[in-house]
Amino acid sequence: MLMTGDQYIESLRKLKTRVYLFGEKIDNWVDHPMIRPSINCVAVTYDLAHEPQYQDLMTAESELIGERVNRFGHIHKDTEDLKKKVKMQRLLGQKTASCFQRCVGMDAFNAEFSTTYEMDKKYGTEYHKRFVEFLKQVQKEDWTVDGAMTDPKGDRGLSPSQQRDPDLFLRVTERRPDGIVVRGAKAHQTGCINSHWHLIMPTISMKEEDKDYAVSFACPSDVEGLYMIYGRQSCDTRKLEKGADIDLGNRQFGGQEALVVFDDVFIPNEYVFMDGETEFAGVLVERFAGYHRQSYGGCKVGVGDVIIGASALIADYNGVSKASHIKDKLIEMTHLNETLYCCGLACSTEGYPTEAGNYQIDMLLANVCKLNVTRLPYDIVHLAEEIAGGIMVTMPSEQDFRSKMVVGRSGETIGDIVNKYLAGSPLATTENRMRVLRFLENICLGASAVGYRTESLHGAGSPQAQRIMIARQGNIESKKQLAKDIAGIKE
Ligand code: SF4
Ligand code: FE
Repeated sequence: MLMTGDQYIESLRKLKTRVYLFGEKIDNWVDHPMIRPSINCVAVTYDLAHEPQYQDLMTAESELIGERVNRFGHIHKDTEDLKKKVKMQRLLGQKTASCFQRCVGMDAFNAEFSTTYEMDKKYGTEYHKRFVEFLKQVQKEDWTVDGAMTDPKGDRGLSPSQQRDPDLFLRVTERRPDGIVVRGAKAHQTGCINSHWHLIMPTISMKEEDKDYAVSFACPSDVEGLYMIYGRQSCDTRKLEKGADIDLGNRQFGGQEALVVFDDVFIPNEYVFMDGETEFAGVLVERFAGYHRQSYGGCKVGVGDVIIGASALIADYNGVSKASHIKDKLIEMTHLNETLYCCGLACSTEGYPTEAGNYQIDMLLANVCKLNVTRLPYDIVHLAEEIAGGIMVTMPSEQDFRSKMVVGRSGETIGDIVNKYLAGSPLATTENRMRVLRFLENICLGASAVGYRTESLHGAGSPQAQRIMIARQGNIESKKQLAKDIAGIKE
């Protein structure tokens, strides 16, 4: 069943998910003004699946249940699927100008699918069978699933079992005949509160002594012992201001991260997909990270499209769109943005089948993709801010713009004064000029900067993680040989 956005939102109301924000428990988190934009964002992934012109991108035929499913629950069966995934993410970035969150689940499904298969082959376990059963459920119910990897990690110089506090990496604290008990946390989890289920993976490669930390499982969001503490964003309390609209920049959509705490949660065996197979922890991490690094060549490009559009608009509204340096900057932004898209498509085109039969992206190219994403969006934002001008961060508030308080010599209100002095080209009203400036502020350094700027740097792994993968995949030795052959070096 393909849910609509409204059905998705209603389905969240049935969950008893425990959410804390500003030191308080939030019972109606679905309608909370700071949380709702992130829910609206995920709702778009449901609504677009019903629009005929997007069906090819947004849905796919599931071989597991023999029905058309939302692509966010799909197992990639060829390189076409991998490319469509990136295109779908670009589309959603364009429609929301935010992180729409649902990709972490999709990327986790595909990494689990191949890794559990290989674990079973080696150990005769039944993880793959369990995982496929879980996935069928996800596809039938059209659930959003939070793929959770990143542990708090404590002292970064120490392995999980060496930490002073053993809970700093999520671990198994008890094994029972019918399941396991887990304790720990997952930090900055994208789209965790508004997910129906969570799919937990280990965060790094593990050694034998870290056995209890090599664990993967699924659980519902409202399972006993699980709670989440909402992560705040820059300027987030603007969403609590009465009647806030212009000052939000993006009133409808936003991303979401939280600290997810597992306070001794029982997981029945049927939802355990790894327990102690330490040598597969690294495999699962690399595959998930690879898929998510591919993802950034789609989602960030879609958001980049909106930023370029907003920059061109503010140039019009400022009356400078004919200046040659403005045209150059827009060309540069487009070049940077499309470079990221090239990388997203390239690692998809070069994808290959796994033993389990699903498709994995090219690891080297996916890591190159993400390393570019750690840089180019900063250049794009830099150019956007340059085109926008300083008024983007010094402008009076929406309340001033709407104020009826008389302050002027001839009876002008604060609103009249703001309207007069913030006017630009006759092409735009002051209000529209303010709207596009606030949008750029939001995406460059406000609440949405989490999803575009800092997430570009640290999401799907910080740049050093990509460098390590590039070093591993770069094959310098064979390149040395190429040079030797041509330079006539015989050793
Ligand atoms: Fe999806 Fe991009 Fe958000 Fe990751 S950062 S969940 S790929 S939108
Ligand atoms: Fe992300």
